[in-house]
Amino acid sequence: MSQPAVDIMERHQRDVLLSVKNLRTWFELRRLGFIRVGHVKAVDGVSFDLEAGEALAVVGESGCGKSTLARTILGLNPITEGRIHFDGMEAVGGYKPMKAYRAGMGFVQQDPYGAMPPFLTVKRVLEEPMLIHGIRDRGEIERRITESLTELKMTPVDDYLNKYPHMLSGGQQQRVVIARAKILEPRLIVADEPVSMLDASVRVEILQLLRTLQLSHNLAVLYITHDLSTVRYFAERIFVMYAGKIVEKAQVNQLLHNGSHPYTQALLAAISDPDASNAEEYREIPPGEPPSLLNPPDGCRFHPRCRHRMDGLCDQEIPPEFTIAQGHVAACWLYRGRDPVERGD
Ligand code: SF4
Repeated sequence: MSQPAVDIMERHQRDVLLSVKNLRTWFELRRLGFIRVGHVKAVDGVSFDLEAGEALAVVGESGCGKSTLARTILGLNPITEGRIHFDGMEAVGGYKPMKAYRAGMGFVQQDPYGAMPPFLTVKRVLEEPMLIHGIRDRGEIERRITESLTELKMTPVDDYLNKYPHMLSGGQQQRVVIARAKILEPRLIVADEPVSMLDASVRVEILQLLRTLQLSHNLAVLYITHDLSTVRYFAERIFVMYAGKIVEKAQVNQLLHNGSHPYTQALLAAISDPDASNAEEYREIPPGEPPSLLNPPDGCRFHPRCRHRMDGLCDQEIPPEFTIAQGHVAACWLYRGRDPVERGD
């Protein structure tokens, strides 16, 4: 699919929609309900900006914190530390400010069937967010429903309005969920593994529909996935997350062709059909499992699995981000001769 003509880095400097600064989302763990065991550090010091109209993918293994990051941005998890600003509002406060903060965001969940009340028809599923947010005009409600379903290629619209979720295929269910996510005309859609529960035959189609919506409405999309092979269909920039931290940030082509962090290289090696000319240079996936987020390793969290580990450095000091190229950074001591990125927290 074509990339937008606007230069990504140029746009980066002029229209920040979402700003995440030094975000920590920790969950207190208690045994027997009252003995404090510690904190699960699901998101631990994450910072980035997302531009209006930009598609950004966050990639990592299950349990790396990417879904917690998405839910914290959506206001569904409390912030332990750090700040999130979205479209001029901060993710703090009670019911009313958070309702206003969330109104500009749509959420596409992993499980489309579970995301919809089974006793509501498609029409009621799509009406509900408008009624919650005070849109009462019947003409406006029907216009938005028709427009959204048409954009999601669910036509003739009348064939779907009175169907219940169980009467739809998985791909159709996910289209309804996407239609609901955009019905309030948000500026950001957070899509958390939106195709991982769908048949392989419809995954690319759903991603292409999301991409078309993103470009035609200048929507920003935060695309959360464990599947690096799907990001080329969709995103402009990509972050790789490991054990609660972002370890590499790059534009998609930079990352696919020059993934620099050893963990990114392991993910690239795991793609069955890599679109990277030097993919054969990548070695096998390192042994072991991601660490416990209750008690993550000191220093670089990847060091117990890393074949490039430098004892006395990697196991003791947290690596800062080093510049690989313009718009491309990696948090790895292998690049310590390069410029460290200044933290703007
Ligand atoms: Fe490997 Fe060290 Fe880089 Fe971590 S900082 S990825 S342990 S080389």
